[in-house]
Amino acid sequence: MRGAPLSMTVLRPQSAEEAVSLFADNPSAKPLAGGTDYMVLWNMGGANGQCLLDLSGVKEWRTIRKTAAGLSIGALVTHAELRDDPVLRREFPLLARAAAVVGAEQIQNRGTLGGNIANASPAADTFPALAVYEATVKTVSRKGTRSLPLLQTFSGVKKTNLEPGELITAIDIPYLPKRPHRQLFRKVGTRAAMAISKTVAAALVWLERDRTVCELRFALGSMAPTVRRLKAAEEFVKGKRLTAEVAAVACELLKNDVSPIDDIRSTAEYRLRVSRNLLSDFLLS
Ligand SMILES: Cc1cc2nc3c(=O)[nH]c(=O)nc-3n(C[C@H](O)[C@H](O)[C@H](O)COP(=O)(O)OP(=O)(O)OC[C@H]3O[C@@H](n4cnc5c(N)ncnc54)[C@H](O)[C@@H]3O)c2cc1C
Repeated sequence: MRGAPLSMTVLRPQSAEEAVSLFADNPSAKPLAGGTDYMVLWNMGGANGQCLLDLSGVKEWRTIRKTAAGLSIGALVTHAELRDDPVLRREFPLLARAAAVVGAEQIQNRGTLGGNIANASPAADTFPALAVYEATVKTVSRKGTRSLPLLQTFSGVKKTNLEPGELITAIDIPYLPKRPHRQLFRKVGTRAAMAISKTVAAALVWLERDRTVCELRFALGSMAPTVRRLKAAEEFVKGKRLTAEVAAVACELLKNDVSPIDDIRSTAEYRLRVSRNLLSDFLLS
């Protein structure tokens, strides 16, 4: 294999407690979950001499549990498990739909939600759904446990606020106060599978009978260094009837919260135009 490592140490904890302890004692170790992101680095020769903390034996982090407050999704739950879980599909369908468009089936079978979050790509497909569901990321280290709101978990492109020795254990999603009137998940990429998003959107809206907005939650990925909620547009539409004029102003406000760039996958102008269309269609449909 091109660039395969010459030497590598693999630590194989069999419980959460052992994982925390081994990570604390080996702070330069690299956590390994499904390995779909890590194997890209491996192929490029970046794994030489590294110490891996293989989390596959930590069974506690492999389940989706119902709690009094919502769902608690273990960090090692795969995209395929999210895609197929009947409770998730019923209660939080946007996340199940996002998981179904991550890479293709091979990636969904191995890639995990915890790995997706720790990898912190601006284009990660699960983040907009997690952002509108107001998920929190639970972590553990030798110092104890923490709960970080999803949006505060990321500090930049491929950067998180995780501290050395800290592992993601679960992602908690609270039940929605009531069923939204409309919901949206949309990935815009070059192909149906194995495409990195040019833009990716998730949204929920609760309305009064006369189409007045009680609450809008709209999140976009691939439009800034980290996933963004459209706070200005969300605030603006609150308490207003959804007319074409209101939708047009909301679309103008979109750029208060995002800063798309030109890159090999798309242009900033295209990303803005498509995102505005998604917002407008969602509000007026
Ligand atoms: C061909 C291909 C296509 C892809 N397509 C998509 C796509 O369409 N959409 C998308 O969102 N992503 C895509 N990805 C990215 C990737 O598959 C996902 O990010 C996946 O969820 C990563 O999970 P993993 O378990 O494989 O992570 P790993 O590769 O095991 O780890 C990724 C990173 O997270 C760290 N890590 C893993 N678990 C933990 C933990 N519990 N606590 C702390 N740190 C941890 C690792 O150290 C590493 O830095 C693609 C990747 C490939 C190779």
